[in-house]
Amino acid sequence: MTRTLTLSPHSPDPNLIRQASEIILRRGLVAFPTETVYGLGANALDEEAIAKIFIAKGRPSNDPLIVHVASVEDISRVASEIPPIVKKLADVFWPGPLTLILPKQAHVPDSVTSGLNTVAVRVPSHPIALALIRASGVPIAAPSANRFGHTSPTTAAHVMDDLNGRIDLILDGGSTTVGVESTVLDVTCTPPMILRPGGVSREAIEAVIGAVDLRKKRTESDDEAQVSPGLLGKHYTPRAELILCSGEKKSALEKLSALARQAQAEGRSVGLLLADEDMKSFESISCIPYPLGSSSDLETIARNLYAGMRTLDDKNVNIILARDFGEQGLGLAIHDRLMRAASQII
Ligand code: AMP
Ligand code: MG
Repeated sequence: MTRTLTLSPHSPDPNLIRQASEIILRRGLVAFPTETVYGLGANALDEEAIAKIFIAKGRPSNDPLIVHVASVEDISRVASEIPPIVKKLADVFWPGPLTLILPKQAHVPDSVTSGLNTVAVRVPSHPIALALIRASGVPIAAPSANRFGHTSPTTAAHVMDDLNGRIDLILDGGSTTVGVESTVLDVTCTPPMILRPGGVSREAIEAVIGAVDLRKKRTESDDEAQVSPGLLGKHYTPRAELILCSGEKKSALEKLSALARQAQAEGRSVGLLLADEDMKSFESISCIPYPLGSSSDLETIARNLYAGMRTLDDKNVNIILARDFGEQGLGLAIHDRLMRAASQII
């Protein structure tokens, strides 16, 4: 059985944090909130503890973990070289949803970095995450606290749904505020490259350090695995078939409402993962709406995105219809996650 402790997200009880840190130091697994999504934490310097993360998640060993530390000074515990650009970025974005790829220290287990000579590191801003790292006194490796390939958890209940019985403890600090994972930025190359868009926008990074590259394609094998047009490296996926419509708003809503009508005629249930104002296009069709917020407020859309996928799954819909929110600001991360959750892109 997995235990849950409920804590204030603003001022977590030090006694409860100490209990959690004792589990970390005994090589256990503790799920905890960060500002992005819930993480599944273990001592990053202990190989045996790290092995348990991969087993609990069913995560392949070639997918490296992000190491969380409590301050910029502490990155030298896992990184062997700290280029000057790190200070610039840390001053603006840390603590916060930006992960940096740096050359690794030899004592960081290969299992954390999947054998790479670099390590991913960040300072999260969530008070529970920071308190847990400080109380443990070790860097904490933490991927998202979900079964591999599934939607990332933004509440403790989501973690419980995926990992009950597989981990020692969940620290419940309520819903996460950013809702999508951190931006992963490789600063070992020039110019730096965004490996994964996330909670810090490309525009915000470029305002601090100038132009960066964006990795477009994930891996070659993602392409080989493409079994139908539009199917991308799937990850972050709901159980239902998610159909993503890109392009201009009016025609996208027309296409989606035609699909909803067709599904309804076939007796398939339809969930709508759309902006509040898009819902009125579906008024005459029986659908299960999950309004994500106003399309002019991408922070709210990002915060609600994964909870929306999980809620619609819980309602056993067959199809989830979604629309793109563009690629500006947080839109890029939302676009990336929707693309990877999609069974079909139209
Ligand atoms: P997760 O913590 O589950 O959101 O996944 C962490 C992601 O960070 C991985 O899937 C990788 O894409 C990325 N990552 C972690 N470590 C490295 C590294 N050393 N080099 C490149 N990417 C990394
Ligand atoms: Mg993940």
